[in-house]
Amino acid sequence: MTDAKAAFTLDDSFTSADATALVERLRATFRTGRTKPLAWRRQQLTRLRDLLTDNRAAIADALHADLRKNRAEADAMEIDLTIVEIDDYLEHLEEWTAPQPAPVTVPGLPGSTARTQFDPLGVALVISAWNYPVNLLLVPVAGALAAGNAVVIKPAEYAAHTSALLAELLPAYLDTDATAVVEGGAPETGVLLEQRFDHIFYTGNGTVGRIVMTAAAKNLTPVVLELGGKSPVFVDRDADIATVAQRLAGTKFANAGQTCVAPDYVLTDPDTAAELQAALAVAIKALFGDDSQTSDAYGRIINERHFDRLSALLGSGRTVTGGQTDRADTYIAPTVLADVRPDEPVMQEEIFGPILPILTVADLDEAIAFINDRDKPLALYAFTENDTTKRRLAAETSSGGLNFGLPMRHLAVPTLPFGGVGESGMGNYHGRYSIETFSHRKAVLDVPLS
Ligand code: NAD
Repeated sequence: MTDAKAAFTLDDSFTSADATALVERLRATFRTGRTKPLAWRRQQLTRLRDLLTDNRAAIADALHADLRKNRAEADAMEIDLTIVEIDDYLEHLEEWTAPQPAPVTVPGLPGSTARTQFDPLGVALVISAWNYPVNLLLVPVAGALAAGNAVVIKPAEYAAHTSALLAELLPAYLDTDATAVVEGGAPETGVLLEQRFDHIFYTGNGTVGRIVMTAAAKNLTPVVLELGGKSPVFVDRDADIATVAQRLAGTKFANAGQTCVAPDYVLTDPDTAAELQAALAVAIKALFGDDSQTSDAYGRIINERHFDRLSALLGSGRTVTGGQTDRADTYIAPTVLADVRPDEPVMQEEIFGPILPILTVADLDEAIAFINDRDKPLALYAFTENDTTKRRLAAETSSGGLNFGLPMRHLAVPTLPFGGVGESGMGNYHGRYSIETFSHRKAVLDVPLS
């Protein structure tokens, strides 16, 4: 291990010279070949796993301080989901990184062999968002390490306690010649983005996504952009409404609605809308009791800026459940809005908070047209028993993921790629898709000399 700084915290000034030296140092390590052997990758992944298991309580405390995240959610969504990914890499590393033979079927190449080979890209930069500040940081970091890269790790500054904790822990567990942590916000990230990386993996909003991609373009650096958007939910009249309400409330209001794949709004027919409103009130009460502000299970808005943004959206439609706010506590009650019109403020931007508008449509045709008239969402959800409806939604709409029956769960299935399309992002990761994202798939052809 070198003596060079492995973590820049908010107490440090982080200059262009620091960034250059840091990236050069990691690139020098990469060039020695140290990160390529599967043994090194395994060791780093195991260390990352140890970090999570050794510090479970401290991580949960930091998440609670940042987001009032409850312990069960911190364990399940942040820590265990990340461990599932790491274990998947550990189990499948040989298989997923093995060269793949390719048949040589073209004429004129007798005796030739061909393969594709996964080459690590070099030095990756991972920039994370604050809403799941452990998972959204460490899952891509694990993918980059599993693929044999060096990594610069930029935690999300709004989740300040978690960022500080990870900046302390990561250098204590990982190889500091091949990884480094830089804490900070736009200025520090801007300084990092002046550097040439071999891959940039960004999670956050589309405005910054454009800044990242513009910076990457100068060096022809490939990017993955994990962005957001308004993920719609179609509720068919044949669906069991009590089940729909339970599953909608359980996913929409987790983390106080601050989830990139949270159901954003509901499209359904007028009769089902009325039934659903009543059922949602019951489901919310079952989750958080009579007063969600006193419930341990309910989170808080990350900061006052987001609280103010969300409060301004509460004027849309008619509030049928919730609506209470407390700025000093950055608390917004789980809220359901009915009779919402498409031109109202709550429908103009991704909500990213605990407000669920219900809009009515006449039928599936109108729902599909509504979805297709807007940006391609990160996820599309539908509650229906009807196979034709499922087939039509799959064939006639475009979204990062499509999920029937239980919102958000597709991201916890590591055999599925996770990512957006259009305004919701580009590229994907999880499981073997992370290895592909952080590798170059090199074509190798071997033609005999005689
Ligand atoms: P954020 O404010 O934490 O920003 C994300 C990252 O961008 C941070 O690390 C931050 O330091 C950096 N950043 C901010 N301004 C910058 C600038 N000017 N230049 C360079 N870097 C800058 O998070 P956010 O954007 O508020 O996150 C919310 C959005 O992210 C939502 O749209 C949500 O849907 C999306 N999101 C997507 C996913 C996904 O996996 N697809 C996951 C979580 C969040």
